[in-house]
Amino acid sequence: MNFKKIEPSKRTNNIKYAIRDIVVYAKRVEKEQNKKMYWLNIGDPNIFDFNTPDDVLDLTINAMKNNKNGYAPSNGIDEAVESIRKQFASKGVKNIQDIFVTTGASEAIDISLTALLNPGDNFLVPAPTYPLYNAIINKLEANVNSYYLDEDNNWEPDIADIEKKINSKTKGILIINPNNPTGTNYSKDSLKKVIEVAKKHNLIIFCDEIYDKILLDEDMEHYSLASLDDEVPVVTFNGLSKSHLVPGFRIGWGILSGKKELLEDYNEAVQKLSRARLSANHPEQYCIKNALLGSNKHIELMKDKLKRRRDIVYDRISKIDGLSIVKPQAAFYAFINMDLGIDDNTFAEKLIEKTGVVVVPGTGFGQRENSNHFRIVFLAQEEILIKALDLIEEFIKNKSWL
Ligand code: PLP
Repeated sequence: MNFKKIEPSKRTNNIKYAIRDIVVYAKRVEKEQNKKMYWLNIGDPNIFDFNTPDDVLDLTINAMKNNKNGYAPSNGIDEAVESIRKQFASKGVKNIQDIFVTTGASEAIDISLTALLNPGDNFLVPAPTYPLYNAIINKLEANVNSYYLDEDNNWEPDIADIEKKINSKTKGILIINPNNPTGTNYSKDSLKKVIEVAKKHNLIIFCDEIYDKILLDEDMEHYSLASLDDEVPVVTFNGLSKSHLVPGFRIGWGILSGKKELLEDYNEAVQKLSRARLSANHPEQYCIKNALLGSNKHIELMKDKLKRRRDIVYDRISKIDGLSIVKPQAAFYAFINMDLGIDDNTFAEKLIEKTGVVVVPGTGFGQRENSNHFRIVFLAQEEILIKALDLIEEFIKNKSWL
């Protein structure tokens, strides 16, 4: 047989995921140099000192033992859907139209974009952004239409830039709040302005709120964008991965809200895709109700740890010449500006080679031209973070990339 090489589709050409792509390089260096590595690149709490709460585990294990191991209803089991509805309504959201439980928020994002975009359409995505959105938009042969987050204004969305970027092919706006990679918890004012723009230009808003329970300052409140207007069509994404320390369970959801008549056809398209892939993971759905409506004692403990780790990163990075940092208010990420005379990709690679510290270059998230950044994840234990920060400081002081 004379088999030819199997050709991948062209639509995969532009698909990148910097958060994991850098790991390939780091793993090579680890092996070649037999080096101790400091993994500050990935937002998985369970590889550090964060464990899944017992009640989340017990409810899931019981469901498995009770043979809840068949397919679930396509939109999720009733008790999960109802608890998501109740919890979202308690944030002030009135016009909830539909809820669909998915294999991680990632699948809700994929379904929602697939139901919306035709090839050639564009979707407004923040720069910097969580890169999954770009990967899916590229897969759909649509275009990422980047708008800037404003580093000089606490990384809030640059509303003027959003307005400037809208054209006849623009279908929607993505808001990630609290934000990955910047850690910003958006002001009510910014969210209201985004809603105004969306209404003026007939756009749907996708609002990713997967970090809404991880606010690091006492006086802080999270506003669900959908609670600020009863009409504007919104799909809100959330899930258990981060707040309940189960990224491997793959449990998330999408919530459609806004004026019913505006969403009817779109909702049907979402439902078709949801039915076609049968269902999300089934037994894991039995922990959703307690996770959303229960006492959630672990969250305060998690936030205490994260707050200390955030402060360590903020204090140290603020003092290093050539770096600057906007203090993250939520989640576990800092997006650090570097003015060192090298680009962010070279910086990240050389840092791995010389020190074993793994960060993700800003290019992987998108950034303004002529600016350079890197993202640090501050999930690691304090002693690991301090050592990694010592290494970064030395690396920069000695210009070790030269
Ligand atoms: N949205 C954002 C902003 C994220 O940072 C992540 C994971 O890091 C996800 C979605 C993916 O969530 P899930 O694990 O529920 O698929």
